Amino acid sequence: MKVQRIVLNSRPGNNGAPVPANFRLEETTLARDLKDGEVLVRTLCLSVDPYMRCRMNEDTGVDYVTPWQLSECVDGGGVGVVESSRCSACSEGDVVTSFNWPWQTNAVMTGSVLQKVDPQLVDGRLSYFLGAVGITGLTALLGIREKGNVTKGANQTMVVSGAAGACGSIAGQIGRLDGCVRVVGICGSDEKCRALVDNLGFSAAINYRQEDVPSRLKECCPDGIDVYFDNVGGAISDTVITQMNSDSHVILCGQISQYNKDVPYPPPLSDEIKETLRRKNITRERFTVLNYMNKAEAALCELSQRVQSGQINVLETVVNGIENMGDAFCSMMTGGNIGKQIIKISE
Ligand code: NDP
Repeated sequence: MKVQRIVLNSRPGNNGAPVPANFRLEETTLARDLKDGEVLVRTLCLSVDPYMRCRMNEDTGVDYVTPWQLSECVDGGGVGVVESSRCSACSEGDVVTSFNWPWQTNAVMTGSVLQKVDPQLVDGRLSYFLGAVGITGLTALLGIREKGNVTKGANQTMVVSGAAGACGSIAGQIGRLDGCVRVVGICGSDEKCRALVDNLGFSAAINYRQEDVPSRLKECCPDGIDVYFDNVGGAISDTVITQMNSDSHVILCGQISQYNKDVPYPPPLSDEIKETLRRKNITRERFTVLNYMNKAEAALCELSQRVQSGQINVLETVVNGIENMGDAFCSMMTGGNIGKQIIKISE
């Protein structure tokens, strides 16, 4: 059968912004006959995520993800349906996901790397398995629970950067549900600010591209900041940390503002910010969701229930067609998405 796939065409360089031309669409032929343990899947949705930027380098700089190879099929989070199976764990019609789904319209995969999922958990909205009821939802929920020290009744203020993105949009809602009295988002457009306040229950939102972040933060957080869910790093995070209360907590989720730079992860802080952390006894521990997968099952149940009951609203930006993977990735990296960026490959 003829299939389309996306391969890595070129690398942006450790110090460069990715461009759509770093990816290339190809057509190839897939043998339909399966070996024992193999499954033929049809791809329904694919995810583009910030961590993929480091997979575009020759060396990812971290031990838990490998670099993509030039002219080879790119992979990442995906969800699809089993079309035929020679694996006892999967049957035709099953909905399955993987963190290493090839960017390909159909694929032959080893059945044992696929997780079977129940469409009822997301009311049939299968793309949620890549976002709110998948790895980004887990990142938000477990990041807050493991590193946030949010306590009901403690009158806490939470700030979220990258607040209108996949993780940030869920993190702010969990912060509110877990008991923060004030949740303030920082993001890159007025439209995103409106979505945070009108659709997701944030108390206030700051457009860092248009507004003066230090003065707006002071206005929006009159009692200071107790918990900071940091998705972006750089100047925005320095500003937030400067306004944090004593004994407060940074959830070091990501540092996207630094991903196109050749710096280690997490990127080094200035002496001034290090001194602020020390003087105010602010914790800032690195959080990696993959280290907490023993808590994933219970957390996914909670996320599913909260989404189904409407306590958590889910925002997505959906693009159609495998040929648009490169554009969608680059768009997400520069703020083109509200909520989770999804690419729909087939119905
Ligand atoms: P998002 O959906 O948040 O998309 C990325 C967003 O980052 C863009 O929409 C853009 O929004 C914002 N952004 C891009 N460049 C900048 C910049 N220079 N300054 C400020 N904001 C910027 O992606 P995810 O939710 O998937 O990921 C969010 C963060 O969480 C990333 O840092 C990612 O690496 C991290 N992560 C960490 C995990 C962990 O285990 N620790 C697991 C999963 C994700 P805007 O318009 O606001 O600029």
